[in-house]
Amino acid sequence: MLRKRLFTVFLALLLSLALLVPAVSAAAPLPVKNVIFMIGDGMGIGAVQLARNALVGPDGRLVMETFPALGLATTFSADNAVTDSAAAGTALATGHKTKNGMVSVLPDGTTPVTTILEAAQKKGLATGLISTNTIYDATPAAFGAHWGTRGGSAEIAAQLLDHNIDVLLGGGSAYFFPAGVEDGVRKDGRNLATEAQAKGYAVVRDKDALAAVGGTKVLGLFHSSYMNYQKDRAFLGTSEPTLAQMAAKALAILSQSKNGFFVMIEGARIDHAAHAADLPGVIAEMKDFNDAVALARDFAAAHPDTLLVVTADHDTMGLSVTEPLDYALLKQVTVSPEFMAGKLEKDSAGVFTEGSIRQAFATYAGITDLTPQEVAAVQAQSKYPAYLVGYAIGSIIAARAHAGVVDPAVRALGHTGGHTGNMVPVYAMGPGASLFAGVLDNTQIPRRMAALLGVNLTE
Ligand SMILES: [Zn+2]
Repeated sequence: MLRKRLFTVFLALLLSLALLVPAVSAAAPLPVKNVIFMIGDGMGIGAVQLARNALVGPDGRLVMETFPALGLATTFSADNAVTDSAAAGTALATGHKTKNGMVSVLPDGTTPVTTILEAAQKKGLATGLISTNTIYDATPAAFGAHWGTRGGSAEIAAQLLDHNIDVLLGGGSAYFFPAGVEDGVRKDGRNLATEAQAKGYAVVRDKDALAAVGGTKVLGLFHSSYMNYQKDRAFLGTSEPTLAQMAAKALAILSQSKNGFFVMIEGARIDHAAHAADLPGVIAEMKDFNDAVALARDFAAAHPDTLLVVTADHDTMGLSVTEPLDYALLKQVTVSPEFMAGKLEKDSAGVFTEGSIRQAFATYAGITDLTPQEVAAVQAQSKYPAYLVGYAIGSIIAARAHAGVVDPAVRALGHTGGHTGNMVPVYAMGPGASLFAGVLDNTQIPRRMAALLGVNLTE
């Protein structure tokens, strides 16, 4: 503690000296020991504006908006003006463009490229990946695995473990257990949770176990698939940690590393809520993300050798805050559209009953005057999975709220389910933060991090 305080005094002295010699300090930022890279999946400018208006008011600021450096990043992929999360994750992890669907390999689909996490590991830094998605979904996968298709969950989960990443926290236990064990679906018989324990990991499955865990290696799996939407957790009575709780534990564990650390923290379900045109869900997921950013900001403020960068992988559904946007209606919605979809009942022909549709909208959205066309739009999805039924439900609520959002018919035409090519914001604080200001391409973000950490990515 005393040494820490002395170090802080020393740093303050150094800083004040640097202020006296501006020519020197401008050219030489403090060396970067730790990097915290936070990604709001699908967090376009519209999602940020919506969250600001709903959470802190139009004249307020989200935590990331108080950072000293602001940039805007282009996000196109190697084969599409509109990226998916795999190609975007690859760009943000490796500094290389690849095709949609590919995970940290070149567009040939097979040649792996070094990720910033691997480069940091090579230099002796501790590493971590955190997501509210499955831990092997596209964004975290791009930092800790290489695979030709984002759907290779079994392979990607195994690679994450083989990579000896110190902290892995998120959803996706299904691909860590073999079929027949817990909620496992692996066909190769491997039990990655047992293998992790043999490698020295503590394996935790709920927020209380996460809070209690110590040591230096932790695998936390809090759902068989995606972690639940923030709005649904109370209704489901789950014991999943918040993103801030996962971030707090990860920072406590990783900051024990003398050589520093690299961690990627993803608020993944902003994207999923946006796909469903679920503006109330976007607001709730943005609040969860903002709370985690606050925690990271406090850590970076207390550790001046920490670079904190917050960005998005792409925009989803081109959300915009229209003049007639009905915030009162948005507030009435208490669960995700997918949760509502799960409450619908089918008739003998396999079609959602009108009564159950009206009941769900009345109970969870306070909407009691559905038109026959709206009922029919939900019924038309009867044979599709709940998340797609949720798309229809979310779009009905969004239209009623006069939200600015990609039209369902336009969403159906694309391969990304409603992503757009809009630029995304980049916020940075800490040593070297100014390198993330201005108009950037997403591939420049990890390259600048690598330069500041003194590590090498594939050229
Ligand atoms: Zn998406």
